[in-house]
Amino acid sequence: MKRLAGIFLTAVFFMPGSIRGSQYIAAQYPETTAVLQVLYGDEVRKEHHYLSYAEKADAEGDDKVACLFAALAKSESILADNHRLLLARFDIEAEASYANGASISDTRHNLEILANIGLARIDDRYSVFANMIRPERNQEAIALVQQAWDIKKRQYEIVKKGLDATGLRGLVTKAPQSYQVCAMCGYIEADSPGQRCPMCAADSRYVEPIGQEWRIYLSIMDNPQLQDREKSYARRFYDKVSVRSATYGKEPDPAVWASAEYRKWGLGARGDFCIEEKAYITTVEEMALAWQMYNEIDLSALDDLEKEYVEKMHSRYGEGAIDLSARRAAGEFSAAMEHLLDVAEALSGAGALTDIDIVFLQRSIGK
Ligand SMILES: [Zn+2]
Repeated sequence: MKRLAGIFLTAVFFMPGSIRGSQYIAAQYPETTAVLQVLYGDEVRKEHHYLSYAEKADAEGDDKVACLFAALAKSESILADNHRLLLARFDIEAEASYANGASISDTRHNLEILANIGLARIDDRYSVFANMIRPERNQEAIALVQQAWDIKKRQYEIVKKGLDATGLRGLVTKAPQSYQVCAMCGYIEADSPGQRCPMCAADSRYVEPIGQEWRIYLSIMDNPQLQDREKSYARRFYDKVSVRSATYGKEPDPAVWASAEYRKWGLGARGDFCIEEKAYITTVEEMALAWQMYNEIDLSALDDLEKEYVEKMHSRYGEGAIDLSARRAAGEFSAAMEHLLDVAEALSGAGALTDIDIVFLQRSIGK
């Protein structure tokens, strides 16, 4: 991988500087940050509930409803991620436990509860949040909370459609054959998506079909060997790295089952893994090693080469985190570097590179 260093340095150091997202002072926005944290925690828990409902529907042999719950879970995960990233701009690390606590009934009951209680009260709940944050005038937060409200309304429509299709509301309409979720805002589309997301206008390559990946998310969330930070990382690694890996669709190497990495981070020994699970399993070893390497980085104990690299990056881009997203979108990096940047993003949970991320890249390139 040594030859990568030259390519990366050339590409990075001769590009114009990038614009960083605005930063806010948390003390000026007590209500806003409190609301964002409540929403984040709620979304993390809801996602877990919906994944458990998907598993229940799947066990009952109802693929369509399993897919509906998986779409709701995905939508919640995107809302949570957007709230987490905004909280980071206030220098607040969003925290929530993956503890489940959902009472899981049979699928018909789960759907009815959701339509009649869970989602039926969204307007009351969100109007309280909107009123709380409005006086502090953080326009970005106001817009994001409004969008989350609109996404919840869409979730409600999707659940009602699902109920109509099951005949639970006395109606029997055609069940949607598939669901897609916009990775930018969490909007759920049933059946064929349009060219753009109707909510945020993201183009169709950001609208992701719902498959079986919910099985991975649920396994990770329910894995007692992983701490919450590790769970978040494993999910991001799947989303950002495993799905784009060249190994996608291949059978995992049989040696993986006996590895310590798999025993900690893996999906158990069920044996009938779907294609998404195989992609995750195939990348488990790299995921575990990257995590170990990342957590061993001590910024107060860097060698000269590492210090020099970090300094070079900052002398070119100024202080603070370095955002390479515009250059990545313009296709300026090699496939190998794109891969490393995806790994770094999964590790940190943020798009911009901190000093720890920079050292991680430097050490990975140096290997
Ligand atoms: Zn969208």
